[in-house]
Amino acid sequence: MSEQTKEQETKSIELPSNMTVRDLAELMDASPIDVIKTLMSNGVMANINQLIDYDTAAIVASEMGYEASLETVDQLEAEDVGEVPMWRRLIASEDKASLKPRPPVVTILGHVDHGKTTLLDAIRQTSVVSEEAGGITQHIGAYQAKHKDRLITFLDTPGHAAFTAMRSRGAQGADLVVLVVAADDGVMPQTKEALAHAKAAKVPIVVAMNKVDLPSANPDLVKQQLADNGLIPDEWDGDTIVVPVSAKQKTGLEDLLEGILLVADSTEILANPDGEVIGTVIEAERDPSRGVVATLLVQNGTLKQGDTLVVGMAYGKMRAMFDFVGNPIEAVGPATPTSVLGLKEVPTAGDPFRVVESEKEARAIVAEREEKAKENKAKSASPLTLESMFDAFHAGELRELRLILKADVQGSLEPILSSLEEMSATDKEGEIGVNVLFTGTGNISENDITLASASRAIVMGFNVEADNAARRLAETEGVSIRLYDIIYRMTEDVEKALKGMLEPEIRERTIGKAEVRAIFKISRYGKIAGCRVIEGEIQRNAIMRVIRNGEQIHEGPISSLKHEKDDVREVREGFECGINLKEFDAIQEGDILEAFVREKVAIS
Ligand code: GDP
Repeated sequence: MSEQTKEQETKSIELPSNMTVRDLAELMDASPIDVIKTLMSNGVMANINQLIDYDTAAIVASEMGYEASLETVDQLEAEDVGEVPMWRRLIASEDKASLKPRPPVVTILGHVDHGKTTLLDAIRQTSVVSEEAGGITQHIGAYQAKHKDRLITFLDTPGHAAFTAMRSRGAQGADLVVLVVAADDGVMPQTKEALAHAKAAKVPIVVAMNKVDLPSANPDLVKQQLADNGLIPDEWDGDTIVVPVSAKQKTGLEDLLEGILLVADSTEILANPDGEVIGTVIEAERDPSRGVVATLLVQNGTLKQGDTLVVGMAYGKMRAMFDFVGNPIEAVGPATPTSVLGLKEVPTAGDPFRVVESEKEARAIVAEREEKAKENKAKSASPLTLESMFDAFHAGELRELRLILKADVQGSLEPILSSLEEMSATDKEGEIGVNVLFTGTGNISENDITLASASRAIVMGFNVEADNAARRLAETEGVSIRLYDIIYRMTEDVEKALKGMLEPEIRERTIGKAEVRAIFKISRYGKIAGCRVIEGEIQRNAIMRVIRNGEQIHEGPISSLKHEKDDVREVREGFECGINLKEFDAIQEGDILEAFVREKVAIS
């Protein structure tokens, strides 16, 4: 067979996840009637405008001489790697020649009151080109500043919430984090949290050392603290740019923008303006007069007025688009924020969006997602435990064991960290190591759980507790908390998890209590305790504790459980029974028998 005929036999074709019969016919350059006939021969009755899914279309295509594959975005969505956001994967799959530089996207993080909002406002006032808007800019959750004729996109919802929301949805909007540290206050708990977020997202950091105007500012001390946390300032030959600024007096801002561009230039910040259109929702709300207003950050391609978007369960045709100063616009390219009208529902901030061909396709995608969501809900999210982490390693989803460590005092953290540092294991894919994202002292808090959830990490505590709010959040987010009071047990568990040998945690659950009211001696059995079940139930296969005067004197299995003359599997509260214990014959009247079972539990 010649190469040519071979090629003719299997032409390849890219199909979306949903399409009409007419679209499919057009894509194959075939008559819709032929497509309908092929569908019928496969038992699918469809008219020309009917939507069919990819699987069905692929069968039809293959019968008509095509080898079908899913379109790139659909494919990326289906892969759902979790670790790397979809838009980054899309850009990586684009033809290199089509990629063009785009503005870096920056988010500002830091401890409360260190000046994040003031800094964002100061940059907005000094560096935003707002001649067209007469100096008035709107708060849409993002804006663009200009430095030496280059644009920088700032996400201006400071604080962790927005950043975490994006990360936990795998969107990871920012290319760079500006970590604000007040020069008079230094590295504080939320500074460390922010650092951990940036580290987990593998996003480079520029430090803005703020409030240098204050007499109490102590820049050298702050630099030392930064260095202690792994951010060695550039002037100490490290690679973290630390820029002294005063957001209040608007000094140092140019240097900060310069620093941002310097770091941005060391990473490839590219996108294809002509490629498939995808991006992330920055914020969204329902406006009483205008309907749903959503701020979007386009990450690849160019979004145009009239395009149809799908985002989560929301969709709609873009009726109008505005830039961040409020001017109507018709199109926006990569890394540019825009506020849009036209979505039918309020989308969730942090969710990725994409442009589709038609509202019909959008509806089909949303219907499919709703279906999937229902299924997933039924399955109920399984918590991330040390055991499931190892499965994730094997599935290639994770290449490190991520931990958040809390201890009572700093002194306990050091020995734990130094023993964790040396740990690693090897599986078929290579080495797996421990990555401690965050360490801190004090009880486990909601913030720790948020960080763990967004980073797919496990929270381990030494000599600390988890507060109630943290426990509740851990439960809803499916985050695993493990508490220890002996260091080697903790490090041992980590090592076992790495090596895949971790036994599931066994928990004892008391199921019932019985009171011994009489003793019968039967030569064949020994002593039989005549009991009344006073709580719960006694099961034949339970383990019994014998309690005398409040103290446990024995623990062991049951040899026989009788109700009247019959052997039974269980006896419930209020009933009488005869219990014979396997390894214990010193039972007395008045003893309490406590029945319990050992269960494997998902660790929480
Ligand atoms: P955020 O919680 O990090 O957003 O901090 P804010 O921006 O709300 O600032 C907290 C306080 O610090 C406010 O009272 C600001 O006026 C003040 N502040 C912010 N930047 C500076 C600065 O550069 N110098 C001085 N002296 N005060 C500042």
